[in-house]
Amino acid sequence: TTTKNDKEKEKEKDNEYKIDYPSATDFKDLPISQLTLKALNESKFLKLTDIQRASLPHTLCGRDILGAAKTGSGKTLSFILPILETLWRNRWGRDDGIGAIVLSPTRELAIQIFDVLKAVGKYHTFSAGLIIGGRNVQQEKDKINAMNILIATPGRLLQHMDETYGFDCSNLKILVLDEADRILDLGFSKCLNSIVENLPKERQTLLFSATQTKSIRDLARLSLQEPEYISVYEKD
Ligand code: ADP
Ligand code: MG
Repeated sequence: TTTKNDKEKEKEKDNEYKIDYPSATDFKDLPISQLTLKALNESKFLKLTDIQRASLPHTLCGRDILGAAKTGSGKTLSFILPILETLWRNRWGRDDGIGAIVLSPTRELAIQIFDVLKAVGKYHTFSAGLIIGGRNVQQEKDKINAMNILIATPGRLLQHMDETYGFDCSNLKILVLDEADRILDLGFSKCLNSIVENLPKERQTLLFSATQTKSIRDLARLSLQEPEYISVYEKD
């Protein structure tokens, strides 16, 4: 008999999750950890919203997506869950460094995302940091490499990439661009390109937007690999 090489083993591990769950209506129908499920229950998140039902079967098995759905449709959990589950499945720990980055157009939105992450990730042990302007940059520099998940505004993250000695995101597994249309509207396009250039190519990328414009499709072409295009419109 031949022994399996690491690549084959890796592939088998991935295949465990390569199942679609198109009929999932509740979070408990999804292949997610008990740690996440317990926190979702406590926050009274039981049923999936449309964008969650359409995107999670893809994102939980590692695919890139462009997800378009209007404000208030539940996009935050659509990317928080793949982050938590990917790090959990990889047994991510303190020494593994930065595993996920969420880019948000504004500080206020970054803080909201951070609050959802704290609530839904409360039984996990990952460290998470808010990297947004208007705070002491030196304090961020001292801690940033000990973080597993960063919720950041583009300008401030790029500042750390340029200035922070030893800043390392070579282990990154997931990049999320939330409200990508607003990120572009606010003029962060160049900044975004510089950030993406500094990230490992082998990663999962989730791009969320309230609208699907040409510039969003261009961004998708640049930053996503074989993405699923998911849009959820109101039915009325
Ligand atoms: P979006 O990012 O699409 O604008 P949010 O992620 O901010 O939407 O969610 C909008 C609101 O819906 C929030 O108050 C959130 O707590 C709530 N919400 C999200 N998903 C669910 C769910 N599955 N069940 C119940 N409420 C949810
Ligand atoms: Mg949102």
